[in-house]
Amino acid sequence: MDLIIGAGISGLTYAAATTHDYLVLEAEQQIGGYCKTIYQDGFTWDYSGHFFHFQHPELRDYVMQRIDPDEMLTVQKHTQILYRDRHVDFPFQMNIHQLPQEEFIDCLYDLFTIPADAPADTFKQMLYAKFGRSIAEKFLIPYNTKLYATDLDRLDVDAMGRFFPYADREQIVRNFRQPEGRSYNATFLYPKQGCIRIVNSVASHVDQARISLGERLLSIDPDSHTAVTDKRTIHYDRLISTMPLPKLFDMCGIHYDKQVYTWNKVLVFNLGFDAKGPERTNCWLYIPESRYIFYRVGFYDNIIGQDRMSLYVEIGFGKDEAVPSAESLLERTLDDLRAAGIVTTQRLVAHQHVLMDPAYVHITRRSEADKQVMFDRLAQRDIYSIGRYGAWKYCSLEDNMHDAFTLARQL
Ligand SMILES: Cc1cc2nc3c(=O)[nH]c(=O)nc-3n(C[C@H](O)[C@H](O)[C@H](O)COP(=O)(O)OP(=O)(O)OC[C@H]3O[C@@H](n4cnc5c(N)ncnc54)[C@H](O)[C@@H]3O)c2cc1C
Repeated sequence: MDLIIGAGISGLTYAAATTHDYLVLEAEQQIGGYCKTIYQDGFTWDYSGHFFHFQHPELRDYVMQRIDPDEMLTVQKHTQILYRDRHVDFPFQMNIHQLPQEEFIDCLYDLFTIPADAPADTFKQMLYAKFGRSIAEKFLIPYNTKLYATDLDRLDVDAMGRFFPYADREQIVRNFRQPEGRSYNATFLYPKQGCIRIVNSVASHVDQARISLGERLLSIDPDSHTAVTDKRTIHYDRLISTMPLPKLFDMCGIHYDKQVYTWNKVLVFNLGFDAKGPERTNCWLYIPESRYIFYRVGFYDNIIGQDRMSLYVEIGFGKDEAVPSAESLLERTLDDLRAAGIVTTQRLVAHQHVLMDPAYVHITRRSEADKQVMFDRLAQRDIYSIGRYGAWKYCSLEDNMHDAFTLARQL
């Protein structure tokens, strides 16, 4: 029997795909993991904005098998950066011509005078080496430092994988006259009823009697293939974990270096207002300046087409950083939204918040090397760790589905 830990998209996709007998354990009372939707006071909010770019048509078709096409919106992606007192199209590096002339010249000059031997061993060094000092220091470094809540020198060059919008000099210059609308995708899919619809579609392929909600795994004995939960002891043949990898090590009693596995936390405020705000076209805004507490603000009302402003606001914290009380953070958030001109006369009529911990794992050279050794050790004992946090990587929900299908086929 395959014991699957977690009823997020990874665990559910594996359950839907495996030909073995299985049981899914989920600590919470609801399926979905980080891909849940909240319905409150007429607003539809995800844990944080979850939008979908399917690169594998077969996975999109699989999801769409059980979703009415009318329920799925295809949204033109329009996103900008709130840069000082103006809006600049995202990605910043492609749109430096929208900056004031002196700043544009600085960016262009630095881009064309990057030393040939500029080191590029860390994420931060790579930003300097690829884009020059001005682009790096005006946007890429402050924004990503706010997001990751760590020194970017700690992160691997490839910390964001394909999610980082690279551009070479020719593309940057060409974009001055022939805008490509390039970021990592021009449109995205979003279900009108929120991201949980995608999870529900996959879950409809899973035998509901074999999902145990509200049952938390407490420990694993890899030698005897035994798992202890807060309700019982279970013997398994294979264990498929989607918990954060360090948690899996702890549960198996596996020693590991805690300095190797670090991450950030993201506190998300979902905010509903009584009227539309001034921001009418952007799906979300990137906010690099440290005077604003948040690094990104998304506009569900612009995405779904609603007549009241509905926001998600993301604030990054270090793994061990104390998170202030939600009340004080909400007050600060509203002040900053007003200072940024996102909220003007609108009145807050509904709100809730979620702490995503972990949110973005810190992909470093050491974590990449260490996890491969650990995965081999675990596999020798019939334990497989998948998912965004199980595989300790930066990925999308589609990647999670892809990896779960692949593992089910392999086993
Ligand atoms: C801020 C943010 C924005 C994102 N935006 C997007 C986006 O726009 N598009 C996109 O495709 N992806 C996005 N993602 C990524 C997406 O959320 C994840 O890739 C996906 O939800 C991960 O699913 P999972 O099943 O691997 O893990 P999870 O969703 O974390 O599921 C793991 C499950 O395991 C359960 N669990 C943990 N411990 C135990 C235990 N001891 N016993 C039993 N159960 C346990 C948890 O309760 C949880 O339900 C975003 C992520 C973040 C943080």
